[in-house]
Amino acid sequence: MKGAGKPERNAGKKRRFKLSLKVKLSVVLALLLLLTVLVMSELVLRGIESNQRRQTEAELSRYSRAAEQYVRQSYYSLENPLTDEEFMTQRGQRLALYITSLNGMQTYLYDASGREVGNSLPGVGDNDVADTLGFALDGAIAYETSGDSLIYFSPLRVEDRMIGVVRLQYSLKSSQDFLETIRELFRTAGIVVFAAGFVIGYLYFHRIASLIGKLRKASQQIRTGRYLRAIPVRRRDELGELGEDIYFMSGAIEEHIERQKQFIGNVSHEFKTPLTSIKAYVDLLDLYRDDPQLAAEAATSIGKETERLYEMVEKVLRLSAMEKYDFDQHAERVDLKELLEELCGRMRGKAERYGVELLPELEEASCWADRESLVHVFINLIDNAVKYNVPGGKVRVRCRMEKREALVRVTDTGIGIPFEARGKIFEPFYTVSKDRARSYGGTGLGLALVRELAEKQGGAISVSAPDSGPGTEVEVRLPVSAKN
Ligand code: ADP
Repeated sequence: MKGAGKPERNAGKKRRFKLSLKVKLSVVLALLLLLTVLVMSELVLRGIESNQRRQTEAELSRYSRAAEQYVRQSYYSLENPLTDEEFMTQRGQRLALYITSLNGMQTYLYDASGREVGNSLPGVGDNDVADTLGFALDGAIAYETSGDSLIYFSPLRVEDRMIGVVRLQYSLKSSQDFLETIRELFRTAGIVVFAAGFVIGYLYFHRIASLIGKLRKASQQIRTGRYLRAIPVRRRDELGELGEDIYFMSGAIEEHIERQKQFIGNVSHEFKTPLTSIKAYVDLLDLYRDDPQLAAEAATSIGKETERLYEMVEKVLRLSAMEKYDFDQHAERVDLKELLEELCGRMRGKAERYGVELLPELEEASCWADRESLVHVFINLIDNAVKYNVPGGKVRVRCRMEKREALVRVTDTGIGIPFEARGKIFEPFYTVSKDRARSYGGTGLGLALVRELAEKQGGAISVSAPDSGPGTEVEVRLPVSAKN
């Protein structure tokens, strides 16, 4: 049986390339690790670079100050006074060579007008440095990088006069090489971490994926009606919890279906009995068409049996509709005293016919429930108390408040229920004895319906013998306020 709206597996779904969860998760893990390495390498390299720059600047500033010192000494030791320009022109080359011998760097000297007056390595790697030189001639320290060298300019001052500029050519090669080595190291680390992350992730997620596979298999098993006999995954985490849930769900479905099967079996059986009897009368009537006594007997019996069938159908329908009925939505405050008074009034006629006295003894009481359901509950209980009574018997209907509950008791002085049957009378189709049920027109569904209805209201029902004398006492407890 497949309903039109029922979702069908794989219906209209093309087979697509499937990337398994373990591969996806492993890639994500590997990428995360790679990202970590990348961010770390970026931070470390930047740190090294700025550290190197600071060291180079400090070193060059020291060297340029030493050069200036040397130029000053040479200036003061002049025997014949020279102009600054003459001094720089005459001594420039020698000074440049001497400064190089101190610091090992190619050194240039310029006079105050920017003309080159000395070069420790003439003709080697000259660049266009006019702009940066211009800054130094204005009295500032200035530098620029070109290829793997840093070109550093520092003004030369004697007695607060600018007499020229010293230019030092600093090789960045070793620091650049160092940085490159570190970068290479991080690159290798990145590749290793990515590969290792993927492999470790794959191995770990493979285990998780196989557990998910087990859970999936369990649910497929339930789908085909093979219920679980053990928890499919035992673990102390969410997967373990899911495993337990699936196991309990399987049990609940199995029980539900089992109950339904039993119910349907009972229904069919119970329906068959009156139908067999009706059919027998119809066959007899067919044979003895002119027998007035048989016709009268048949009319009574068929009438009784159809009445029973009708009642059964109605109760079965009500029981099965209960699943879908939203009791919470229909709940309201019900004045029990008023309701029971009205119901006793309704049942008085039947009680009189049975020669039974109906005695309402009602106190003020109210509860929170679906009124319609309560009507069914109490009518059924009063009906049983009248039906299973004896002529001249009594039915007491009482209600009162007790703590946070409303209490309703229907007590009769009738034939009573044997002790061993008290636990079973709430089961569908249970009757204390078939003969008894037949002669009273019972179906065995009334109390099953009553208990379901009472429990759906958040209430409870129990049966006992009255404190004194023969008979039965049924007690219903109902909540005073809505359940949360
Ligand atoms: P029925 O439709 O047969 O009355 P119920 O489910 O209402 O079905 O009751 C189940 C059985 O419990 C009845 O067949 C009857 O034997 C017994 N029973 C119920 N109420 C009473 C009562 N007040 N006194 C004696 N027997 C009762």
